[in-house]
Amino acid sequence: MFYQIAAPYLTKNEKKYILEAIDNNWISSKSENVSRFENKFARYVKTKYAISTDNGTNALHLALLALNIKENDEVIVPCLTFAATINAVLYTGAIPIIVDIKKENWCISPEKIRKAISPKTKAIIPVHVYGQPCDMDSIMEIASEYGINVVEDCAEAQGAEYNGKKVGTFGIIGCFSFYVNKVITTGEGGMCVTDDKKIAEKISILKNHGMNPKKKYWHDYIGYNYRMTNLQASFGLAQLEKIDEILKKRKKIEKFYIENLSDSSFFIPQSQNIEKTKKITWLVSFLLKPKKLNRDKFIKKLYEMKIETRPFFYPLSRMNIYRKFVDGVYPIADNISKSGISFPTNLNLTQLDYRDIVSKIKSVAKYLAA
Ligand SMILES: *Cc1c(COP(=O)(O)O)cnc(C)c1O
Repeated sequence: MFYQIAAPYLTKNEKKYILEAIDNNWISSKSENVSRFENKFARYVKTKYAISTDNGTNALHLALLALNIKENDEVIVPCLTFAATINAVLYTGAIPIIVDIKKENWCISPEKIRKAISPKTKAIIPVHVYGQPCDMDSIMEIASEYGINVVEDCAEAQGAEYNGKKVGTFGIIGCFSFYVNKVITTGEGGMCVTDDKKIAEKISILKNHGMNPKKKYWHDYIGYNYRMTNLQASFGLAQLEKIDEILKKRKKIEKFYIENLSDSSFFIPQSQNIEKTKKITWLVSFLLKPKKLNRDKFIKKLYEMKIETRPFFYPLSRMNIYRKFVDGVYPIADNISKSGISFPTNLNLTQLDYRDIVSKIKSVAKYLAA
């Protein structure tokens, strides 16, 4: 048995809704299920509008375009995130400003944001990384003080809350991904959410070739084709129906790891109860006590034992293609990145599988540390 780190959790309705879509002969982006999925998603996060996209990266790109971000503008991003966050900024021609994270939540540091602000700063992209909400009070306070827009990258934090509100509802726009390893999936897919009617309209136009919604084949912008299809939306509807169940199951898996690994002297669990936040479980993640265990050897050995794990993202600052946006050092991102590991968080595995995984994790750790 190979324990895959993540896999989509499918039940009856994914197939049912997709087959209905095929039977009805609606398979492209022009369809009822796309707007149905958007409306239900908006209701779930409690925003006025939700606009679906073909993936999460393009949701971020559209958000920045809708805010008119362009060459010579600056956009602040965290050092520890998936590359799509910074790439979306680069697509617009704007300059990403990489800032360090906080040790407590692995998310962008509000103090470092403040230091990175210049007259050219047009937006901040806090990333709720590994399911953990950022310090939204401080970030929104800084943003409003300087009149800067906030675009939340919620790709890894569907359903997470801050102050009792879902992430994605603090900034002017929230962006989600439905890639296959995210909390709910459409295979590939994404969503922008907002309460701002004008922004919602602009995103809808830009994702649909920049075409004027009232005058077909008349283009007001150089647009894109970033649309979600009816097949993806049908799948998404089935997933969204059970998001609460999915989150509960994921949380239970995380709890099991924490209960079984925290008495060991090798592992530090991700913070679970930071003030005001309700994190969700994306991939169950721990830091290794670095002097005791070599992370990369640990991953390799676990893989040999048929347990797939993953290292944390590399700090953006360490990659050559982003080197020119580096300003200073990023000691916290460096440290977290080096010692972080995510364990199987796969709803298709059984309780027995998780017992097996945890016992192997413990024995490999002991073996390597000896
Ligand atoms: C997955 C992810 C994205 C990109 O989403 P895609 O749907 O794969 O394009 C963006 N940001 C973060 C933090 C992610 O984890």
